[in-house]
Order: sequence, then C-alpha cells, then structure tokens
Amino acid sequence: MSRFFSNKHKELVSYTPGEQPKVMDLVKLNTNESPFSPSEDVARTVYESAKRLNLYSDPTASDLHKKIADVLGVGENQVLATNGSDEILNFAFMAFCDDEHPVVFPDITYGFYPVFARLNGIKFEEIPLNDDFTINVDDYIGINKNIFIANPNAPTGIALPVSDIEKIVASNRNNVVVIDEAYVDFGAESAVKLIDKYDNLLVTQTFSKSRSFAGARLGFGVGCESLINDLNTIKYSTNPYNVNSLTMSAGIKILEEENITKRNCEEIIKNRQYAINGLKELGFICTDSSANFIFASHPEYSGKYIYEKLREMNILVRHFDKERIKDYNRITVGTKEQMDKLLSALKNII
Ligand code: PMP
Repeated sequence: MSRFFSNKHKELVSYTPGEQPKVMDLVKLNTNESPFSPSEDVARTVYESAKRLNLYSDPTASDLHKKIADVLGVGENQVLATNGSDEILNFAFMAFCDDEHPVVFPDITYGFYPVFARLNGIKFEEIPLNDDFTINVDDYIGINKNIFIANPNAPTGIALPVSDIEKIVASNRNNVVVIDEAYVDFGAESAVKLIDKYDNLLVTQTFSKSRSFAGARLGFGVGCESLINDLNTIKYSTNPYNVNSLTMSAGIKILEEENITKRNCEEIIKNRQYAINGLKELGFICTDSSANFIFASHPEYSGKYIYEKLREMNILVRHFDKERIKDYNRITVGTKEQMDKLLSALKNII
C-alpha cells in the first residue's frame, strides 16, 4: 500500500478471481467458462469491427440493446449492457444502496457482493443459507433492505423457482431486489418475465457462461425503464464507452446464433448429469446444480486435499477456504472428454 492510498479503501479486501494459468495443457474447470469456442462467424465479426477501432464504441449501445431486448422479449429501454455482469452489479450497488438502503445477500454466494458493498461504503448483512445450502425464502420477506440473490446461486448451483423470487420482490416494494442470473441458461427459470410487474426488480445476465464470451466481457441488466435510467446515470458518470466495439458487434452476432447457445447449454446439462453420476459413484456428495458447475464434497477427503491432488494431475477446479464450504470443490462442467479426465483422476486419488 502506498502512502497515498485513500483511507476509505484501506480496509478493502479485493476479490480474488479464479486462476487463469498461462499453460494450455491443463483441464481448466475453475472459472465456469464455456468449453466451446465462439463460432467462426463471431470471430469474423470481431475481425471486421477491428477495422473501425479508430472510433469510439457507440455509448448508447443501441443496436446491442435492441437485439438483447428482442431475444428476451422486453423493451429496448429496459436493458443496459455492461463490461461483464460484474459491472452492472457494481452499478447497482452504486445506484441503489446507501446508509438508508443497506444490502443483504446469502452467506454463501458470489464473493464479489461483499467486495462491491465495501468498495461503495455500504453496510451489508449475510443471511445464512439452510444446512443443505438452500435459501430460506422467509428470511427475505419484507426485510426492508436491498437484496442481491444469485439464481442459480454460486458456488452451490442451487436455484430458486421464480414463484419464490416473486414473493421476495413483492414483499420488498420499497427496496431493489437484484437477481443475478449469470448461470440461468443451464436449467433455471428467469425472472425477466417479472420486470413489467415490479419496478423494484433488476435482473442481471452475462455472455460469459452460456454464450462462450467470457474474454470479451459482456453482461447486462434488465429492469423497468426508471431503474435502467438510474444505472445509465452511473454508467455515464464512470465510463460511457463501457462496452468496446468489438464486443458489441460480436455480441449482436452471438444473439443471432441462439440455436448454437441452446445446443451448447443442452450439451453442458447432459455432461453435468454424467459427471454427477460419476462423482456419486466415487462417494462424492453433490448439490442439486442448475448451473454449469458442480459443487461436490467427499466424506473421507478434505476439499483442499482433492483440489491439490487434482492440481498435481493438471486438473484445475475451484476451492474456497471459507469455513462452511471448505470441504467442497466447485467443478466447472466442460466437455465429456474433460469430465472423463476429471473422473479418472478422482478415481486414482480416491
Ligand atoms: N455473477 C456470478 C454469480 C458469477 O459467478 C459471475 C462470474 N464470476 C458473475 C456474476 C460475473 O461474470 P461476468 O462479469 O463475466 O459477467
């Protein structure tokens, strides 16, 4: 820390992203990326757009917003695209949370929420998940605080039905409820259909997982027009060109290939079940995941031990030191071949 670092950030513990190793011969199952590359057409679109890199990207992102709105069946003014969904989440903390509107989220959830809260000087409370890592919906009814819920949750993969999300949103009409749907395409139900009914609901999604676009950084928020206007005020006060032009044009192309996205998701869902079956045969306990990852523990081996042994065998998964989940590893679902490598390595370890 330099002598100049602001006092207001001195206590900040920043988010630790999953490792992005430089070596390519690893089976990389640690950051929930898609194992499938973007299509040739997407690559070609990036190449063509690169010829206009002398110009700024469109700050209104209107073509992209139109396309996202079309695909989701919402209005263009109900969408805001951002630099990954991390950015829209941070915007939501900045726009809607303050001393009068503190935040709650589950104790086991996306590790960036407490970081964003601290960064923005917002008080937060972590509500413990049930013993089986499910969310107790009653804990969120009428609590008069802003709420962030990842659905499906991370790193557990467990999803809430939209009927439960609606109960939470309907009972907190004076607070914003943010539903982070980073993993929704792998089997959960989206709350986007509720945005016309509730002006306090913001849904966030990403291109990083189901749309094979993590490196391009593209996410978005969907909500009523006034929420989106507020988020735009934050965007234009921080980075008006938050989505670069390569990402913007390729993002539109990806949305023209919904059939590919759908096929890839179906493949991941199939491989998830295949891997869960294999893990269970080896004695692992897995949560009921609706995401592109599996959260697994073994009664006889510590999470860290499994993580380290896999690492020695060039298989990278994600282990968290947090007490409640230290026995678990989060394993990204990849191709069938990657799942076979994982299962045979685990068979050796065990
Ligand atoms: N929400 C959750 C629950 C996540 O796991 C992630 C991925 N780390 C994100 C949001 C952010 O993803 P991105 O910024 O790549 O859209």
